[in-house]
Amino acid sequence: MSDNQHDDYPPVMHGHGQARFCLNCGYELQPREIDGASRPACASCGYVHYQDPKVAVGVLIGDANGRVLLMQRAHHPRKGLWSYPAGFVDAGERVEDAAIRETQEEIGVTVELDGLLGLHSETGNRVILAVYRGHIVEGTPSPGEESLAVAYFPPDSLPDLAFDRDAGIIRDWQERFVADGVHSA
Ligand SMILES: [Zn+2]
Repeated sequence: MSDNQHDDYPPVMHGHGQARFCLNCGYELQPREIDGASRPACASCGYVHYQDPKVAVGVLIGDANGRVLLMQRAHHPRKGLWSYPAGFVDAGERVEDAAIRETQEEIGVTVELDGLLGLHSETGNRVILAVYRGHIVEGTPSPGEESLAVAYFPPDSLPDLAFDRDAGIIRDWQERFVADGVHSA
């Protein structure tokens, strides 16, 4: 978890992840209008860099009181703010396996997934986020290398969240799966 693409969650359209040099010949890429979009292209050999979507996964874990498990980010961007365990799917990796792996790496517990909560994408953002519900089958949540603290929070009393869309995702989870303060998964 030390390479840029993982530290960059959720990555932005510029900066990290944007190719600067031709993968064929090493010549510097320049923006060129192709198929209705500006794409990095090589003036030397004609190579065009088509940027693929990236798939991220997150896991919402509730306790018996309907609280949601969050971790405080140890690294920039958004250091010190809170989010649920999340990260990128590796090429060739099952999405569900990535969700389980990231949760293990970030808060030190083994989870079983209870289904897909939602799939989130937005115009102009190359990241597609799949959020699962999960429950802990082994281990006690504790901070890993990527988190400062781990704690359960009532959905009506959340800490400062790292990512704008997370409040809506947690609210959706609460409305659908947490009835009267009791976790109903
Ligand atoms: Zn080239």
